[in-house]
Amino acid sequence: MAAEVLNLERLVDFVTPIAEYVTPEQNVLQPVWDFVRQGPWGEDALRSPLFPVVMSVAFYFSCILPFMIIDLWGKEWHWTKKYKIQPDKEVTWPMVRNTMVITFWNHLLYVMPSAVGQYIYTPPTPLPPVSPGLWEFTWHIGASLIIFDFQYFAWHWLHHKVRFLYKHFHALHHQYHSPFSWVTQYLHPWELITVGILTTINPWLFNSHCFTIWVYMLISIAVSVEAHCGFVLPWSPIHWVPFGLYGGAIKHDLHHQRPYSNFEPFFCIWDRLVGTEFTLKDRQRAIDRREKIEYDGHDGLVGREMKKFN
Ligand SMILES: [Zn+2]
Ligand SMILES: [Zn+2]
Repeated sequence: MAAEVLNLERLVDFVTPIAEYVTPEQNVLQPVWDFVRQGPWGEDALRSPLFPVVMSVAFYFSCILPFMIIDLWGKEWHWTKKYKIQPDKEVTWPMVRNTMVITFWNHLLYVMPSAVGQYIYTPPTPLPPVSPGLWEFTWHIGASLIIFDFQYFAWHWLHHKVRFLYKHFHALHHQYHSPFSWVTQYLHPWELITVGILTTINPWLFNSHCFTIWVYMLISIAVSVEAHCGFVLPWSPIHWVPFGLYGGAIKHDLHHQRPYSNFEPFFCIWDRLVGTEFTLKDRQRAIDRREKIEYDGHDGLVGREMKKFN
């Protein structure tokens, strides 16, 4: 009984600051949250610590599979050629199989055990009856993305700058100079775990509503798959984010071509500030100067690039 009272108090503490801003009738997200909370999957499934993991993994594979089909069987489709960033680079079945094998091993050896650990040690997620307010929802997600963008920029820069870190951890991800969707999580376990932790912790800083956290996780996955898909899609934020501040597929594709550039995962703020931004125009200028564009990170050319950019 005492434990129930304690839990209720915690729930009220959690809900009160949210409810102070807006009533359920005023809140535009309330119908969405009610639908999620009362859906056929049941509240117990949503409360389970396994839910965010299962949701993320299912969403990740549902994002990359359509691109895999296009890469393997849609090479001659008109729009495939129109939107592909490096149309001369073909994605073959051995490339897909290789990245698929590493991805599945990573899920089997690291993602699943961490999910089981969470299932055992993490308490059920409280489901507040009130949804987050639209403003709180937007700024929590925006701030979490901006913070992660900087965290990954620093992580990524360090893992190119320090040769040991590059060679032993990050070089695997750079095996392909023309990214395709399966490359998104073609990662050394160190990168999978450290970057996974960075992605997860940010909404905790704001004590975000669980609905906000889940949507943030889905957006992070969608953006990271978009960055590796190899296509500039008509609905990509690159078409509407002003001043070229969205990194997306083009910038990350260029990063895979020229590794000591475009370190940010989502935006292009810090790269611009520190002078590591590399655009399609820069690429064309480099081609005109007959510079080598593609670098193989395994043979030390990254070191030469560092001197060039330092
Ligand atoms: Zn990448
Ligand atoms: Zn890199």
